[in-house]
Amino acid sequence: MVKESTLEHQLRLLFALQNIDNGLDELHELKGDLPQIVSELTEKAQTLRRRKAELEETSKHSIVQRNEADGEIVALKEKIEKYKTQQFQVKTNKQYDMLTREIDMTQGRVAKLTKELEILEGTAITAKTDAEALAPEIELAETELSERQTELDTVNKEHEEEELRLRHEREKVAVRIVKSDLAAYEKIRRAKDGKAVVPVKRNACGGCFNRVPPQKVLELRKLNAMLTCERCGRILVPDEIVHNTTALE
Ligand SMILES: [Zn+2]
Repeated sequence: MVKESTLEHQLRLLFALQNIDNGLDELHELKGDLPQIVSELTEKAQTLRRRKAELEETSKHSIVQRNEADGEIVALKEKIEKYKTQQFQVKTNKQYDMLTREIDMTQGRVAKLTKELEILEGTAITAKTDAEALAPEIELAETELSERQTELDTVNKEHEEEELRLRHEREKVAVRIVKSDLAAYEKIRRAKDGKAVVPVKRNACGGCFNRVPPQKVLELRKLNAMLTCERCGRILVPDEIVHNTTALE
C-alpha cells in the first residue's frame, strides 16, 4: 500500500511539474527569438567597436612612426649638406672620396626611410578610413540592439512575476521527485517537444493521440506501475491525477 501511494504521489508530482513547465514554455514562447537576437546583437556591436578601436590604434601608431621617420630624414639630409660643405674644404682625394661614400650611404638611408614613410602614411590613412567606415555600422547595430533590448525588457517585466512564481514552484516540486524519475522526465521532455507527462483522454495518449489499449487504461487506473505510451514513450497519467493536481500533499 505504501508503495502504491508513493507511486501515485510521484505521478502527481510529475504531472504538476509538467504543468509548471508548460507555463514556463509558454512564457519562453512569448519571448520568441528575442533573447537570442539580443545576445547576437550585443556580440556584434562589441566586435565592431573592438575592430574600430584597433584600427584607430593602428592609424595612431603609424603616424607616430611616420613622424619619427620624417625627423630622421630631416637629420640625415642636414648631414648630407654638412658632408658636401666639408668636401670643399678637404685637402686630399682620399678624404674627398671618404665623404662621397658617406654621402652615398646616407642618401641610401634617406631613400629607404622615405619609402617606409610612404608605407606608414598609407597604413595610417587606410586604417583611419576603415575605422570611420565602421561608425555607421556600429550605430546601426547599437540602435537595433537597444530596440530589441527594450522589447525583451518589456516582455520580461510583463511576465517577471509569473516566471518567478513558476520557477519557485518548479524547484519545490522537483526536489520531491525521485531522481531517476526526474531524469527520465527531463529526457522525454527534451525528446518529445516539451511534453513528458500526458493524460489519457478517451483511451488515447494525450501526447501522440494514439490509442491506448483498454487493458493498459485499466492498469493505469490501478496505479500499480508507471506506464508509458507504447508509441511515443511519454509517461501516462490517469484521470484521477489529472483532475486533482493541486493536492500535492
Ligand atoms: Zn503517445
